[in-house]
Amino acid sequence: MAKNCPAMEAAATLLDAEAVGDLVLLDPLTEESLLRTLQERFRRSDIYTYIGDVVISVNPYRPLPIYTPEKVQEYHNCNFFAVKPHIYAIADDAYRSLRDRDRDQCILITGESGAGKTEASKLVMSYVAAVCSKGEEVDKVKEQLLQSNPVLEAFGNAKTIRNDNSSRFGKYMDVEFDFKGEPLGGVISNCEYGLTPQPRTELHEICELIKLDPGTLEQALCSRTVKARDETVLTALSVSQGYYCRDALAKNIYSRLFDWLVNRINTSIQPGKQRKVMGVLDIYGFEIFQDNGFEQFIINYCNEKLQQIFILMTLKEEQEEYIREGIQWTPVEFFDNGIICELIENSKCGILAMLDEECLRPGVVNEDTFVTKLNQLFATHKHYESKETQNAKHVTDLSLPQRCFRIHHYAGKVTYNVTGFIEKNNDLLFRDLSQAMWAARHTLLRSLFPEGDPQKVSLKLPPTAGSQFKTSVATLMKNLYSKNPNYIRCIKPNDTKTAMLFTPELVLAQIRYLGLMENVRVRRAGYAFRQLYSPFLQRYKMLGTKTWPRWAGGDREGTEVLLSELKFPPEELAYGYTKIFIRSPRTLFDLEKRRQE
Ligand code: ATP
Ligand code: MG
Repeated sequence: MAKNCPAMEAAATLLDAEAVGDLVLLDPLTEESLLRTLQERFRRSDIYTYIGDVVISVNPYRPLPIYTPEKVQEYHNCNFFAVKPHIYAIADDAYRSLRDRDRDQCILITGESGAGKTEASKLVMSYVAAVCSKGEEVDKVKEQLLQSNPVLEAFGNAKTIRNDNSSRFGKYMDVEFDFKGEPLGGVISNCEYGLTPQPRTELHEICELIKLDPGTLEQALCSRTVKARDETVLTALSVSQGYYCRDALAKNIYSRLFDWLVNRINTSIQPGKQRKVMGVLDIYGFEIFQDNGFEQFIINYCNEKLQQIFILMTLKEEQEEYIREGIQWTPVEFFDNGIICELIENSKCGILAMLDEECLRPGVVNEDTFVTKLNQLFATHKHYESKETQNAKHVTDLSLPQRCFRIHHYAGKVTYNVTGFIEKNNDLLFRDLSQAMWAARHTLLRSLFPEGDPQKVSLKLPPTAGSQFKTSVATLMKNLYSKNPNYIRCIKPNDTKTAMLFTPELVLAQIRYLGLMENVRVRRAGYAFRQLYSPFLQRYKMLGTKTWPRWAGGDREGTEVLLSELKFPPEELAYGYTKIFIRSPRTLFDLEKRRQE
């Protein structure tokens, strides 16, 4: 019988000791067992694995026949635990919870470049589009939402060494639904960062394109107006400052155009009245390179915040479920990374605030004074290290170079080289450049630089790159925190984009960066397994003399009668209003073993 029933087969896969479909059931739980499980499942083309209701996805780098309309039907209204792990299952769960329980959802997709985040976000969107109702108006909305992707990718993606179609911007898209669960439209926000100064073109060609007098642009690129008291002085820039100006201008034009594009798309997809929302976040994952600079610092800060929200929300969700089910809640031990977030973002003495302070200092700013200050402030901080603090603590491993500091992130230690921090944080467009752009007769371009209007010259310094990023991260976190979270964590199995190749060392590093061990620990700190009474009783009633072949009473009573007959220790079990909770994976394995006997 088990062979013919997909639900039973799937449940068996969830428990298969060698390749459990849910890592919460791993026994023993070690990095090694987690890695091997992912590897074995990947070998069987099972690229999806759960940690509770979190989906881990390992990029197969080849088309798999698991996204067909038949598959969509199989997962539509499925029982999460009764079907094989799949991204459709999480999409279905989120959509149903939005439609039937009226809870706004967010889907957080993380992973390193090339791990499959954008593909995952497209799979979620197309799944939702496929299962929500049909009709002329709805189809038009769906079409608009799905078609916004190619436009954004055309402008926002680029080929990199890691990924042929790499997103160069973080994207958050809200899809809005009416009370029946039909899509109304959407809103996109982009948290763009670090576009490569996308080629160099000759001054005259550019000026022709943007209808600007070449002399004006040349002057703006090669000199800078400095106002001192009542005098205005024009100072020539050095060659490297000139290059910096050129790149800053190119990046600015591109990113402002991109913002404009996102706005344009939003005006066409944004519905009048918003009801329920499903947000999809496709963001860059944790990065550790040989050489880590300001970009990595910012990206890793964002990931540290996402991890924090993950911990808070998972615990919140656990707690809420226990309350919903009327079960005694026992506080969970876990690593709270709030201390690392504070180290970076504290508005008085966090690293970002210190950097801003250095950037505002009159005279020649330099990164050495910045590190010195950090060393004084964080001499005894558990998550901060530098050559000086190591010396002071008589650390023997003196591998840290000068002009570097190391942060112990939740995902591992990262050494940042501060060279370029100040310049990048100060990524201001010199006033001369904005004014030159405003002087162009190209209407769109001109409208992108409103601050270039000489009438509106402001002496206030614009916010630094770091503080702008901090603000946008805070807004994002607030938004996510108000919604019910669903997680997809993507893993890149090899560095060569090869189909079905699994490089253990590479995956292990990502298991660490994604904090998967911590993830499993948090998930099973309370009860590792939970299931509605009815399917549970169906599956195991054969083990009890009173419940087999038929139990005439309620499902909950049947489950209680069965489990008391099997004599499991009471602390292993908890009876909720609708679900049975089992504390350790062992108990479940035991049940499963007896069933097979
Ligand atoms: P980046 O951070 O650089 O934007 P990413 O995580 O968004 O990277 P994707 O662009 O989604 O990565 O995926 C990279 C490539 O991997 C895709 O172009 C596709 O070829 C392949 N790929 C990803 N997911 C799948 C999948 N589920 N099935 C088949 N191929 C996939
Ligand atoms: Mg992408």
